[in-house]
Amino acid sequence: MNFFEKKQELQKFLQNSEAKIGFVPTMGALHEGHLSLIDRALQENERVVVSIFVNPTQFNNKEDLQKYPRMLDADCQKIWQLNKDVIIFAPEIDDVYGEDVVSEVFDFQGLDLVMEGSFRPGHFDGVGTIVKKLFQIVQPHNAYFGEKDYQQFLIIKKMVEQTQLPVNVIPCPIIREENGLAMSSRNLRLSQTAREKSALIFRTLQKSKEMYRSGIDFNEIQQEVEKIFTQNPDFQLEYFSIANAETLQISHKKENGQTYRAFITAYIENIRLIDNIEL
Ligand code: AMP
Repeated sequence: MNFFEKKQELQKFLQNSEAKIGFVPTMGALHEGHLSLIDRALQENERVVVSIFVNPTQFNNKEDLQKYPRMLDADCQKIWQLNKDVIIFAPEIDDVYGEDVVSEVFDFQGLDLVMEGSFRPGHFDGVGTIVKKLFQIVQPHNAYFGEKDYQQFLIIKKMVEQTQLPVNVIPCPIIREENGLAMSSRNLRLSQTAREKSALIFRTLQKSKEMYRSGIDFNEIQQEVEKIFTQNPDFQLEYFSIANAETLQISHKKENGQTYRAFITAYIENIRLIDNIEL
């Protein structure tokens, strides 16, 4: 099995190979959502590298970083059950960052100023920093990202465009629990009751989509979503936004030729859950 902790060893292993490399960056605690990305990478590449690294610079909340689930052995088993040729890269912080565990400052041209960016200051600079470093180490042809973190996917696409790294950034659909809850490593921290209740998030996104499709105006959709969350006090709604699917600018009315997505972030049992849907 190919498991590397040191970037130099990984690079030595990968060098002199003409193989097309697919790359899936993760923070571990793997679930079906991650595995779907790895599966897709396996279909489209000759070699697949999965990184498992809880990146400190993208956490704006210390407690969230401390409590982030870590289960490296189980993760390796899941990956190798899928395919034993997958290469796993699980570095220590100093191997990736050296002594200065800090973010590069990017200009994501407004993509980072809304939603996750406005509620998690510095988060996307941290994401851009680690993904750029990992791209430079792995040098993949294709890299796979889940639409569950749709804003992150657009940010990475922008970073690649700006840095001109030769990587295709490929979006993959959101994988859900049977009740519709988007799979997430953070779901592990939810009680069974909260997991069941959290189906509300996707149900509300679907409702917003139905309203959008029947031509109801964005403000009315917004009010309806806020009402639903007020009626469900187990949740604290952080934001519901309808945004342009390319620029992520928050939109208040439909314009011809533009496509939109709806985004929800809400807390239940103090755990922050995010989800979104194409309208
Ligand atoms: P994370 O480990 O949370 O940083 O996620 C690693 C990658 O898996 C990111 O590209 C996520 O968007 C993606 N991902 C996480 N959850 C899901 C999901 N439920 N469906 C599809 N992709 C996901």
